[in-house]
Amino acid sequence: MSEILTPEKVPELLERFRSRKMLLMAHVRPDGDALGSLCASMLLLREQGFQAEAVINAPDIPDSCKDFLPEDGLKAESEIDPADYGLFIALDSSRRDRISASFAASGEPLPAPLLSIDHHGDNPCYGEWNCIVPDAAATAEIVAGIAFSADWAVSPETATLLLLGILTDTGSFRFANTRANTLRAASRLMEAGGAYSGVMDACFFSKPENMARFEADLLCNHLEKALGGRFIYTFLLPELLEKYRIELRNTEQVIDILRAIAGPVIAATIRIEAGGFKCSLRSKDRRYSVGRIGRALGGGGHEMAAGCTIHAASFEEAAQILLEQVEKELS
Ligand code: AMP
Ligand code: MN
Ligand code: MN
Repeated sequence: MSEILTPEKVPELLERFRSRKMLLMAHVRPDGDALGSLCASMLLLREQGFQAEAVINAPDIPDSCKDFLPEDGLKAESEIDPADYGLFIALDSSRRDRISASFAASGEPLPAPLLSIDHHGDNPCYGEWNCIVPDAAATAEIVAGIAFSADWAVSPETATLLLLGILTDTGSFRFANTRANTLRAASRLMEAGGAYSGVMDACFFSKPENMARFEADLLCNHLEKALGGRFIYTFLLPELLEKYRIELRNTEQVIDILRAIAGPVIAATIRIEAGGFKCSLRSKDRRYSVGRIGRALGGGGHEMAAGCTIHAASFEEAAQILLEQVEKELS
């Protein structure tokens, strides 16, 4: 059974699990939206009297997000027993195998049903219930909509976490996924006491100097262009990361410096991760879908922002495989 739920119907479903503990989960290598929607959902549920906990892998958390996370209720996977929960909720996770908790990602039967709340259009509705809103700029925008429609109290701390999700997934309202509803949600979250400038400062005006120098080196010395300049990409080489003491979990926004350059229509970064070459892909032109490129290579995501992991022997070989798909998309 796999049922589609609108955001307005989610509170009704949750009521059925009022007597049971709920476990919230987000995707691997979490970004601001994964962390913001995860932690905000946990706080909202607790405020409504539900028993809710969230799984989080502390070493993966980007530095920019750390200060916004609540102190209570976050558990490492080693601290929990899946059998203790009556409902699992996956946030911002486009496929079951992208969930950060390995017991859920494995595909083994779960001891309780799963609700997926997500804004990825390619989510195959892997939960028993699926609240998927592809138009939403962020999963945090969907969660805010659920809270507003149910008239739930939104504390300033929760509003800040939801703003964290919205501001990071829209690149502070710069990306094409920003809709009027995104701005309305953000406005209501500011009214609820959300720390707009606190999130902006932490995520967009606190680049460590070593990161700024790393990005400058990339721009000056490591840009690759192909397909007549329509494709721009760069390798996040281990020796370069090492030189500037950059950790992979903090490289989320590096792709944005390539996207900001005029000319190319598709941008990519390629780095070594999880036994393969992880590609972050961005499109600057609605006619070309990086979602399609990601899916063709075993990954996925949105049409304008997607990712995949290529198994290859070297950076150059991974780039060649990616290039072939980009060429297909552009032709
Ligand atoms: P990233 O490249 O990690 O910034 O991700 C961009 C978008 O693509 C996000 O919405 C991710 O959830 C999605 N994404 C990244 N990698 C994958 C993957 N391997 N499979 C499916 N979706 C992905
Ligand atoms: Mn995400
Ligand atoms: Mn998201």
